[in-house]
Formats: sequence, structure tokens, C-alpha cells
Amino acid sequence: MALISDEEITAVRNRADIVEVIGHYLPVNKKGKSYVALCPFHDDHSPSMSISPDRQIYKCFVCGAGGNVFTFVQNFEKVSFPEAVAEVAKLVGYPLSVDPTAQKKPEDPHRETLYRILDETIRYSMYQMNTEEGKQYRNYLEQRGLDQKTREQFQIGWLPAQDQLYRFLHAKGYSDSDLVSVNVVRTSPGGLHDVFSDRITFPVHDPQGRPIGFSARTIDRNNPSKYINTNDTELFRKGDLVYNYHRARGPARREGQMIICEGVTDVIAFWRAGIENCVCTLGTSCTEQQIRLLKSSAAELVFCYDGDQAGQNATWRAAKMAMAAGCRISVIRNDTGMDPDEILRKEGPEGLQQLQKQKLTWMEFAIEYLKKQTNFDNYQERREFVRKAQAEIDTLSDELDRQHFTEVVGEISGFRLEYQKKEAPKQVRPRPAAARARDGAEEAEELILAQMMAHPEAAARFEEKLGYLTDPQRNTAAMMVIDQQRRLGHTEPAALMDKAENEEIRRLLSRLATGWAYELPYDEKVFDGAVRKIRISIKEAQAEAFRRQLQQPMNAASRDVLLKEYQECLIELRGYIDEENSTESN
Ligand SMILES: [Zn+2]
Repeated sequence: MALISDEEITAVRNRADIVEVIGHYLPVNKKGKSYVALCPFHDDHSPSMSISPDRQIYKCFVCGAGGNVFTFVQNFEKVSFPEAVAEVAKLVGYPLSVDPTAQKKPEDPHRETLYRILDETIRYSMYQMNTEEGKQYRNYLEQRGLDQKTREQFQIGWLPAQDQLYRFLHAKGYSDSDLVSVNVVRTSPGGLHDVFSDRITFPVHDPQGRPIGFSARTIDRNNPSKYINTNDTELFRKGDLVYNYHRARGPARREGQMIICEGVTDVIAFWRAGIENCVCTLGTSCTEQQIRLLKSSAAELVFCYDGDQAGQNATWRAAKMAMAAGCRISVIRNDTGMDPDEILRKEGPEGLQQLQKQKLTWMEFAIEYLKKQTNFDNYQERREFVRKAQAEIDTLSDELDRQHFTEVVGEISGFRLEYQKKEAPKQVRPRPAAARARDGAEEAEELILAQMMAHPEAAARFEEKLGYLTDPQRNTAAMMVIDQQRRLGHTEPAALMDKAENEEIRRLLSRLATGWAYELPYDEKVFDGAVRKIRISIKEAQAEAFRRQLQQPMNAASRDVLLKEYQECLIELRGYIDEENSTESN
């Protein structure tokens, strides 16, 4: 298996600019010498991620995420290291000699066959759409604005009646059992039949963009099932999949939000209006798996269901689930009585762009929603309205919001509600790592390591004077720094990240490379002072261990040996402390 060489990895890293690469995924703003962004690795509300163009690394001061261009792409796209290198190479236009995405282990042959059947079905249906028999379906779609370009983009096709698809696939040599198992063909007492007989087909894909099934509509007004979907198969699980996710994910990441609407035609309508970060679930309600998938694409989910009662109930349920999963949510208020597709037809793209701007916060939506369910002439119902609305207000963290909505609910209900300031919450937030109490030795080790990362002289001094650090992670990091400087002859923090064997070390390196100790000029006295602190702490720990051992019962000879060692240890410790005191008094 071909691997990307270290030379190529270095070349890609050197060509990439971390601000540009991160800026490709997130909005990035300049702040002083560096850049800041909302951290995509935790639910960030104020930009906590700092990006250093000098050092080519990023660091989140809240969740601790940090690294270089490759680790960013790796964690953001949830891909392997070689895939991240390939992605960055693509972004910066560096031609890699190998394609690591081609190195993926092959799918199992059975699954390959199933994907191929679905692929063939899509191509067959698109072909049929363009035949003479397909004309009335083409016209039907054209009238709704789904022109050739849109049909090709979404691979919309038409499957004829009389089991023609089955005969086509059968002739191609696919087994009946495979055709049935992806549910393009079904068994019935009369034999095998097409599932989507005489229907317009909208292919559904998994997040990797592989075809997994269909949503299909009839244009026959007498057919009671306007839309039917593929039954659950080993590829197609209605509760897990999200229609158009593979296309919408990129745009959603750029926009920071994903719009969730009711149906396939709504998604396509938004797309045609230039709003590409849009998906739907097949069937109204969202499941937890779907929310989890959506959450990985954007921190904010925007629900755009129909304005009718069913749509609003679905919004309430899905939004609650999304908030419980840690998403920010908002709701597009659609009280036009039309679905997005109709709006696009009647008002053009501006109509949908306008609709998208009518966003309600959760609390605004919740009050509207509860209000519609309440008969305000009935005291019990009014009271219930207040109780439910207050439960939602209690979840708000912003004091001004709480005050405002308490007043709104009071006005609507006619109840006189006293706004009560929330008790100042006890300090539960852990103090930042840098401020946490740390003994002198720990601080000294971090100073040494940061200085080694910044100055080759410090690394040389470390080898001469100390040679190791007591904390295993820091010690590993120190060895990596020395190794790098031997190879390159200079320091390069961003290049270290790729060699880190685990996330903890990477975080340690990126924290130190963005910290104050990295900024300090190299000063041998300061460095030696840190070395001494570590030695003192090691000797103190040894002395303590001797004291404990000496309290144990033992024979006289052993005790003598131990006592001697203990005394030597104390003398060395004394020496270091004297040295420390004499430098301090200078
Ligand atoms: Zn973070």
C-alpha cells in the first residue's frame, strides 16, 4: 500500500496557510497578530479558537482542542490523517503522488453489488425520463420549474410500469435476492415486481454520497400514496438517513447552520433559490440519530416545517431533541400557507430568501406555539400556558431575554408575573488550565518544554543539564522536540503535531506553543533555574520515599544502607537549595 511520504507531508504543510485552511471551513476574523474563530469542537458562543499564522497552529482556550492544519481537517471532517493530508493538498493545489482516499479498504463485494444495483437504477430512471414515454413526466417537472439542470443535479428520473426495471436489471445478471434486498423489486404472490412502478424517482444517498434508496412520487391523482420510500434495507434506514446531507454538509459548515425542511421538493426549491445548506428527513419527525448527524455539520439547526399544526408539532418535538443534544436552534416562520416549492414558483428566489430571514428564536417560537394551543377565555388553559412558557423561560441563560419573555408572557396571559433575577450561579466553570494550581516543578517543566520548542539553544541545554522530564507526556514531547531539531536544525511547532502519538500530547504542544513561555527570549539563567526546580522536586520526592521506607521494620544492615542513601539524597537536595538561594539573592 502506497503511503504519503514525509517529504510530501512537509511540502503540503509548508504550502498551506492555516488561516486560509480553517477559513475554508469557518468564518475567521483577524484579532491583533492572530485570528479567532468560533470553535467547532465545542458549543462555542464567543470565538474561543485562536489561530496563529506565525506558528501555523490553532488552539481553543475553552475545550483545549489544538494542532496544525492536518489535525484541524482530521478532527473537523472526522477523517484519517492521510485523508486530511489529501484534503489539504487539494485545497492548496498540491499534486500528491498517491491518493490515500484510493487506499481505503475495499467495500465488501456484497455491498458493492447493492450500490451498483442502485446506481444502475438511477441511470436507468434518468434515461427513461428523457424518452418519448417520459415526456409527460418531464413536462410535469418542467411546469414546476425542475428543468434539465436541476433534474441532473438531483438525479431525478422516472421508472416505467410493467416491471421494466426488473427485466432490465435481471438481464444485466443481478440476482433476484440482491434486487429484493435493496427493495427496488418486491416479491408478491404473482412473482417479482418493481417497487417504484410508474413513478418519478428521487435518489437518496448516505453521508458518503453512495446511493441507498429512493423517494418516489406518482403523478396519478387517483393514487392515494403520493410519495413512497424505499422500505428499510441494510443500506436504507429511514430513521438514520437525511436526504441531501452529502450535498448540504459543505455549505452548512460554511454558513454555520443547516436548514431542515419537510420534503424533498422543499430541499430542491431552496437549492434552486441558491440556498444549498438544506436537508429533509423522509417523514416529518426527526430521530436522535438524525439530529446527531446534523449536529456534526452545523452548530445551529434551522427548522422550516409547514405552518400547519402537524408541522408545528413536529418543530416543537425536533427542536427540543436538538437542544437536548446541544444544538442551537431557530425556526423559520412560514405562515404563508404555501410550502417552499410553491413560494419559489409564485415569488421566485427572493420569496425563499425572504422566508429564510424570518427566523424566530426558540423562545419566540415556543410562545407562538403555546399561544395557538390556548383558549385564553378559559382560566385553566391560561394558567397552563403560563406554566409551560415559564418552563421554557427558565432554560434561558441570558438575563435580558428572561426579563423580556416574562413580560411578554405576562401581557399575553393577563397574569401579573414578577420577573425574578436568577441567583448568580456558583462558579462551576473550571478555571483555565493555565491558572489551575500547579506545583513549581510542573510549571518549570512546561517552561522548559516551551523554551525548547522555541529555541534550539534551550533544547541543547536541556540535553546537557537534565535530559528528561518527570511527566511521561511532557517527556515524550521533549524527546520529539530534540528529534525534530536534530533532523531539521531548527524549531517548527506545527510540524511536531503530526508526530504526536496521541491527542493529549498534541494538545500539550499546541497549548505550549501559544503560551507565554514560548514568547520569552531564551535566557540561560531562567532556564537553569527551571532545571533546578525540577531537580529539587525529584530529590524531595526521593527523600520522602526514603523516610517512608525507614519507618518500616527491617534488619540493622539494611537500615544502615538505606540511611546512608537517605543522607546522600539530603546532601544533594541541600546543594540544589543553596544554589537556588544564592542565585535568588544575586
Ligand atoms: Zn473549543
